[in-house]
Amino acid sequence: MKKLGLYCFGNDLRLHDLAPLRALAARVDQLLCVVCVDPALVVSSPHIVGDAPISMRRRQFLEESIAQLAVSLDKLGQRLIVCRASASQGLAELLVRYPVDEVYRSRHPGTYERSQWQFLQKSFPATRFQELDSHTLFNWGALPFAPAALPPTFSQFRKAVADLRVPQPLPVLSELPPPPGAIALPERERGVFPLGDDTRHYRFYGGERAGLEHMHSYFKSDWPSRYKLLRNDLDNWYHSTKFSPWLALGCVSAREIVSQLRDYEARNGGNDSTEWIYFELLWREYFQWYAYQHGNHLFRFQGIKQRKPLTSFYPERFRAWTQGETPWPLVNACMHQLNETAYMSNRGRQIVASCFVHELKLDWRYGAAYFEQQLIDYDMASNWGNWQYLAGVGADPRGHRRFDLEKQTHQYDPDGVFISQWRGRGTLSVLDSQDMVGWPCVDRSGKE
Ligand SMILES: Cc1cc2nc3c(=O)[nH]c(=O)nc-3n(C[C@H](O)[C@H](O)[C@H](O)COP(=O)(O)OP(=O)(O)OC[C@H]3O[C@@H](n4cnc5c(N)ncnc54)[C@H](O)[C@@H]3O)c2cc1C
Repeated sequence: MKKLGLYCFGNDLRLHDLAPLRALAARVDQLLCVVCVDPALVVSSPHIVGDAPISMRRRQFLEESIAQLAVSLDKLGQRLIVCRASASQGLAELLVRYPVDEVYRSRHPGTYERSQWQFLQKSFPATRFQELDSHTLFNWGALPFAPAALPPTFSQFRKAVADLRVPQPLPVLSELPPPPGAIALPERERGVFPLGDDTRHYRFYGGERAGLEHMHSYFKSDWPSRYKLLRNDLDNWYHSTKFSPWLALGCVSAREIVSQLRDYEARNGGNDSTEWIYFELLWREYFQWYAYQHGNHLFRFQGIKQRKPLTSFYPERFRAWTQGETPWPLVNACMHQLNETAYMSNRGRQIVASCFVHELKLDWRYGAAYFEQQLIDYDMASNWGNWQYLAGVGADPRGHRRFDLEKQTHQYDPDGVFISQWRGRGTLSVLDSQDMVGWPCVDRSGKE
């Protein structure tokens, strides 16, 4: 009897360096390729106040990435089944309908994704379920500590993995088992999300091909040798790698990037800047395992700490922050940039998050939720991990990181070019920065 496999794509929308699909393909005679797009996550972000959909650009990037994957699978004689349902519902329906022997996917650090997987395992005990690592640099089994015993700080983590070799990326898949001929598969989706017409600013194109093209052109330039000097810039396409949207959906693998980085160093010589790109990828790596270890605590008000912060939710301050109408022009400019491009520099993210928590005294989870909704590169582990860090409830050993907004403005936008380009002074703020000082902070449990 022919063996039937099902591969569930998630944050790995690609065909290069995809160990779990390669492993499954070697074990089965026929294959179903599936991606589930959960309307609950796309049409309304579950963490945000109200039922707001994710930003048009984030959604467009996702749909482009899926469409590109479908085309690549077509070329290998496969057909991508797009389920507009949660993974638990979409996969359960397919597992009832088809006699699937084995289901594979990439390991996902999210609690929601993990609980869905566990639900499926329980519901279909006769089917074999297997997860392998493809979103991270290192494999679970190669870590020098149990994933549940992750070092508490990034520095300790970095030391612990200093001698670990990043595995070589696997080549692109050039063949796959066919879909089961006797089974009528759903029609391939033809709907393409309408393209936005605003090409004035950043335009990230979703999908493996666009991601690889971007990566190759970055490493063909000499920007990597200047990365460390420029990475804090607020607004220049080449001053940081801009790999994040493709990494978030797995259109490009992190191992492929490291391999290209090492090739670049072999051709041009390595320096502090090239090493710093790896350093930042290690931050990403840390947050992936951090999310895995802390599960639901990633979304808790007190994070991984015992005490809740002395912040709360003030609707008007929240609205003013999201719309770029605070008393701080630099923060406003960054928020306008986010709202219009779905991207913000790392420095900008730190500045607006610090303002959110320390000046506006807002509950950090609402800021993280807004980022989740807007960011084209939204990555659960990186977003919530960074927000926790800045809110003093995460992996930061200093526990409190407040950015002096005036100093940041002088340092990163001395001539006001960024503020002017993004209309940071454009709107009269309904909030007064003076009023913020000493504003009483009451947390949800009612304690001062
Ligand atoms: C409050 C806050 C929220 C964030 N939310 C996200 C998010 O949802 N998704 C996301 O990918 N990054 C997030 N980051 C991290 C960082 O800001 C972005 O990865 C970076 O700005 C993306 O641009 P780049 O690809 O040009 O980065 P580069 O500076 O070129 O860095 C190279 C790569 O390293 C990784 N990286 C860099 N800095 C960090 C970091 N601090 N944490 C984790 N990974 C990092 C990213 O994968 C990035 O693509 C967040 C940071 C903050 C402060």
